[in-house]
Amino acid sequence: MKLNQSELLREQAYIEGQWLDADSGKKVNIFNPATGERIGSVPEMGAFETHRAIDAAERALPAWRALTAKERSSILKRWFELINQHADDLALLMTTEQGKPLAEARGEVAYAASFIEWFAEEGKRVYGDTIPGHQQDKRLLVIKQPVGVTAAITPWNFPAAMITRKAGPALAAGCTMIVKPAPQTPFTALALAYLAIEAGIPPGVFSVITGDAKAIGNTLCESAVVRKLSFTGSTGVGIHLMQQCAATLKKLSLELGGNAPFIVFDDADLDAAVEGAMISKYRNAGQTCVCANRIYVQSSVYDAFSEKLAAKVAELKVGVGTESGITTGPLIDKNAVKKVQAHLEDAVSKGARVKTGGRALGGNFFEPTILTEVNGSMRVAKEETFGPLAPLFRFDSVDEVIAMANDTEFGLAAYFYARDISRVWKVAEALEYGMVGINTGLISNEVAPFGGIKASGLGREGSKYGIEEYLEIKYLCLSV
Ligand code: ADP
Repeated sequence: MKLNQSELLREQAYIEGQWLDADSGKKVNIFNPATGERIGSVPEMGAFETHRAIDAAERALPAWRALTAKERSSILKRWFELINQHADDLALLMTTEQGKPLAEARGEVAYAASFIEWFAEEGKRVYGDTIPGHQQDKRLLVIKQPVGVTAAITPWNFPAAMITRKAGPALAAGCTMIVKPAPQTPFTALALAYLAIEAGIPPGVFSVITGDAKAIGNTLCESAVVRKLSFTGSTGVGIHLMQQCAATLKKLSLELGGNAPFIVFDDADLDAAVEGAMISKYRNAGQTCVCANRIYVQSSVYDAFSEKLAAKVAELKVGVGTESGITTGPLIDKNAVKKVQAHLEDAVSKGARVKTGGRALGGNFFEPTILTEVNGSMRVAKEETFGPLAPLFRFDSVDEVIAMANDTEFGLAAYFYARDISRVWKVAEALEYGMVGINTGLISNEVAPFGGIKASGLGREGSKYGIEEYLEIKYLCLSV
């Protein structure tokens, strides 16, 4: 398939059931991060169009909310099937605008679709409660109702899954949703909207608006009609949006930055730990919020682990994600490359050694890199690198590594490899994170609750907990 021939490449925003240009006529070009080529353009919309999307979502709400959960489920299942049927085209679109290798993009499409399927089912299981009354003539009940009009602001690193993880539960619960995708990756979002129409999702129930992030964000946050915002992105922007939502007391789900520790104890299966580190560190060129950011290795296995990891990293192939055999695509932009470079230079200036890699390769490409002899004074210890750079720290005792692992404002994901069952239990309980991978480097799926604590955010996505974020509890007190 040639991308520009695909029905899925939409260059207009989708609001109120219509494909629209910006009122001003302005457009913004979108580029391929691997080649620098222009892919196409999307409308540069702002407050005016956002109000229009909010009005449409409000008008669409009563009829959508009134459907039975099973009726909504049937429509969502059609969306799920259409996403899967178009998996190859969606993956190509995603690789073209985001850069990840095609195989990873296909994986993301399946992952993205899984949220729609899961919540199509969960929507049918939104149970209430009956509570034994506090007085003889009282009957107490709890029902759950959709929160209403909702909004989502999403990042570029998972252009499809970060949308479906929000839209799946929202629509299944009976809410309507307006999505503002990341400026770098609007085409995957618009393709999902195209398939949503094909699936029979009514006008106004799901809209995708592109353009000025601040103007759109302000309008969504300040609107009293929008009752919930779900955001995935950086902690700084998350805090800003939370402040903007304060005046209307919106419900919030915030999935923010991470600084994941990955701990290898001396009783670990080292080959498994290396495999886990490869997935956790280098997937999506290190650009996931659950990527291992700090790798702590117990002294007695430090050299053996770093040798084995270096051997695996040498097998990675960097290049344009549509070419065969490529395992590592480009970073999203020049600034991302600069950040990796700056973290590397800072660490080396303070005594770290480059074990493998270490070079920017031109364009937005960076060599998969391992640093050894890293310590807590370096930027890599405190900041999210968001690139293919693995810093290896040394530690001696369990208590020491727990303290180091928790010494961060973030609390999204943590990983560790160990076999002693008491140690496993102790470390799992002590890590101050929303998610802990034990002897695995891959934890995300639709059936489990994804989310963080501390500066990593609020709320959970996926799983039976994910739909609760789109429901209000109503207590009924009946006097008989
Ligand atoms: P990243 O560094 O991963 O791009 P951001 O937090 O900057 O993370 O971006 C995540 C999403 O938040 C994107 O869709 C972006 O357009 C949006 N965004 C950034 N700044 C604002 C803002 N001031 N108001 C609303 N949305 C914003």
